[in-house]
Amino acid sequence: LNPLFNIVELPVNISFTKSKFYNEIVQLTRKLIHMNSFPNIDSKVIYEYLLPNSQPLVNSRPNVNWKKSWKNLNFKYVNIYVRDIVFKFFHEIITTRSRLFQIKKIESPLCLICDSMETRIHMFVECRKVKYVFQYFKDMLNKICKMQITDSNKILHLDFKGNKRQVNTAVIMVTTYIGCIWYSRSSIKCIEAQDFKTNIIKQNHMLHLILKDNIIKYFTEEFCKVTENM
Ligand SMILES: [Zn+2]
Repeated sequence: LNPLFNIVELPVNISFTKSKFYNEIVQLTRKLIHMNSFPNIDSKVIYEYLLPNSQPLVNSRPNVNWKKSWKNLNFKYVNIYVRDIVFKFFHEIITTRSRLFQIKKIESPLCLICDSMETRIHMFVECRKVKYVFQYFKDMLNKICKMQITDSNKILHLDFKGNKRQVNTAVIMVTTYIGCIWYSRSSIKCIEAQDFKTNIIKQNHMLHLILKDNIIKYFTEEFCKVTENM
């Protein structure tokens, strides 16, 4: 007896409310059994059925070119831990106080330092705690990628204009910035420009090690020459 095909004959106390993954497999099998070639179905057909045909919810938010954002987030030299954080940032599920308040984990959505609502933009751009480091980050982006920040929202969503090397460099700088602020989130002191600089230098060393002389093909000359004394 195969429970997938003989549902009527099953005992009544079987639950069909399982994890999403389990349900999907059941749904998929139910579709596939109606195909003429069943059970000889190749993996390509199954794969096509499995692929999601829906877009992430945030893609409907205006003012950001999401196609660029997702492509840049997948740039292979982005640190994998930081990529995870930026992924959550994009999906608006990063744990800011306003998010925690929304899911009833804390009593107040206000930032502990400035008494404003701690949204994502507050946490990474507007908060008193990041005022100096954000200014330093903007200056550095301007100097190293020749990019002026006009729209912080676009920049934080990796939506840039520029040539390939400028864009690659900006992706590394922005993701490093988001990671740096995120890892210092529990501190109530101002985040120093030096913290961000240290992270950029570490990232830069790593890329030099991986790419050696080819680093210049991927990143701007200014980025390749980043040193402690800049
Ligand atoms: Zn604040």
